[in-house]
Amino acid sequence: MAKLTLKNLYKRYDNSGKKHKTVNNFAVNDLNLDCRDGEFVALLGPSGCGKTTTLRMIAGLEDITKGEIFIGDRLVNNLHPKDRHIGLAFEDYAMYPPLTVYENIAFNLRAKKVDKAEIDRRVREIAKLLRCEELLNMMPVKLSGGQKQRVNIARAIVRRPELLLMDEPLSHLDGKMRQAMRVEIKRLHNEIECTSVYVTHDQLEAMSLADRIAIMDLGVLQQFGTPMEVYDDPVNEFVAAFIGEPPMNILKTKVIKHEGEFFFTFEESNLRILVPRRYYNKVSDGMLVKMGVRPMDLYIGGADSKGTPERVAMFENLGDERRIGVRVGDNLMMLITEDETRYRQGDVIRLEVNGEKTHLFDIETGDRIRSGQ
Ligand code: ATP
Repeated sequence: MAKLTLKNLYKRYDNSGKKHKTVNNFAVNDLNLDCRDGEFVALLGPSGCGKTTTLRMIAGLEDITKGEIFIGDRLVNNLHPKDRHIGLAFEDYAMYPPLTVYENIAFNLRAKKVDKAEIDRRVREIAKLLRCEELLNMMPVKLSGGQKQRVNIARAIVRRPELLLMDEPLSHLDGKMRQAMRVEIKRLHNEIECTSVYVTHDQLEAMSLADRIAIMDLGVLQQFGTPMEVYDDPVNEFVAAFIGEPPMNILKTKVIKHEGEFFFTFEESNLRILVPRRYYNKVSDGMLVKMGVRPMDLYIGGADSKGTPERVAMFENLGDERRIGVRVGDNLMMLITEDETRYRQGDVIRLEVNGEKTHLFDIETGDRIRSGQ
């Protein structure tokens, strides 16, 4: 187990920026990250944000344009991948088809000339840990997707790496299997006590597995924090919109002052939301700003509600919750409710918003405007 430190890490591909937008053509742009000993860190972000490039640089599979990578206290920039004491589990399983599962897991130990009895002991120990003992004599072609993922991870950890690197290891699995494997990976991480970096574009995976999540966009780290920090305390509009399902409602608003109180108002809408007092030293009459509020902080008022009458524009019944969308100007504002009423499009509801739960973002930069500072 070792800590991992990335210092001012950059990557520019010769032909970069062709497929996706990046900032100044850097696939990874001045990335600083400190992962503690034994920590489970998820690299999360949309396609093309630089997650895989970062992981490949850590693994030594990709040249570094600029910056430093330390595993423990060792600068590994110029070390060959095999000398970095890492385990790799990538989304493609890359097993050797003519070899049994046992031989696939044992392969790297044999290459390192580990003693035969020791290999046997370690292969069986890992197989037990990953609950794939019954697969050891099978050929890879006979394995299901989930079984391949287990063997893939077994191969990565059998050498007892200091650092385990996983790139979307569950991406080929269906929903149920993914969920089951998520639980397995968490259990495994706790048992092998290995520092782990896990690349995913799936926020649920990152939220449920990671001690801390590094959220990237266009090659730039946006926020590095615990799941609760990035959810409750996003640093900017990107993180606020990326974390949470359905995403936070983020709308342009004009703040107006009325009888000593401030309200968020919206173009072509009667909706008014009381600005929380903690923002009073941050807002002014006529100020344009973005307001964010999560769907679970919107409610349907009862018969005596003073909420704004709004027409239901969208209704989804997901069994244990219902999602309702109302139009606020050009935006669809989503709310989640346990109310079992089956609304139809056009029904009128009284929309109430918990103003205390609103977030403010700079209209130009998207940076969070924090209260009370
Ligand atoms: P995904 O989730 O789609 O795998 P990602 O976040 O892992 O995306 P990367 O694969 O690291 O992103 O890509 C980051 C940027 O670098 C993208 O703009 C991509 O087009 C570019 N890129 C990645 N690999 C290469 C390459 N071999 N040559 C040129 N550009 C590349």
